Amino acid sequence: MNRPSTARRPLLVSACLTGVPCRYDGKCLENPGVEAALSGFRAVPVCPEQLGGLPTPRPPASFTSGDGHAVLDGRSCIVNAEGIDVTDFFKRGAYAALSAAQGEGALWALFKDRSPSCGITSVHSGGRIIPGVGVTTALLKAHGITVLSVETFLNRRGLQDGQIDDKIF
Ligand code: SF4
Repeated sequence: MNRPSTARRPLLVSACLTGVPCRYDGKCLENPGVEAALSGFRAVPVCPEQLGGLPTPRPPASFTSGDGHAVLDGRSCIVNAEGIDVTDFFKRGAYAALSAAQGEGALWALFKDRSPSCGITSVHSGGRIIPGVGVTTALLKAHGITVLSVETFLNRRGLQDGQIDDKIF
């Protein structure tokens, strides 16, 4: 039996991973695995921090405590390197990214780890790196969207010998 085609499947992706210079330092990221990860998908690039209204470049920011879940629950804030509370920008960007995902019908996201928006396994919080997720990642996951790193995404595809199986996502 033929597997279903993935050619038209939308995949939300951190814009900085696709060559868009939207990071806090005005740069993008080189990740040679991204092109392979995106092959066969329709990439939907988003930068939640830009969508939330923050400029580029911008001061780096981190959680005062906890992670994206704590921010969405109102138990934590995000403060930038100048000491300014930028939590509302991050929350606004998270909801804009969710709207983009839902508008495109994206069920998966390929995100950049350690970002206060796009973090997947760890984030900067309270002056150290802790296990946790970014604000956008937390919101997407709460709405049933699977968020993966480039490495995890490639591993999952590799386990299926280059074939995409709905059951693995
Ligand atoms: Fe990249 Fe996400 Fe940070 Fe934007 S918010 S620069 S997409 S990691």
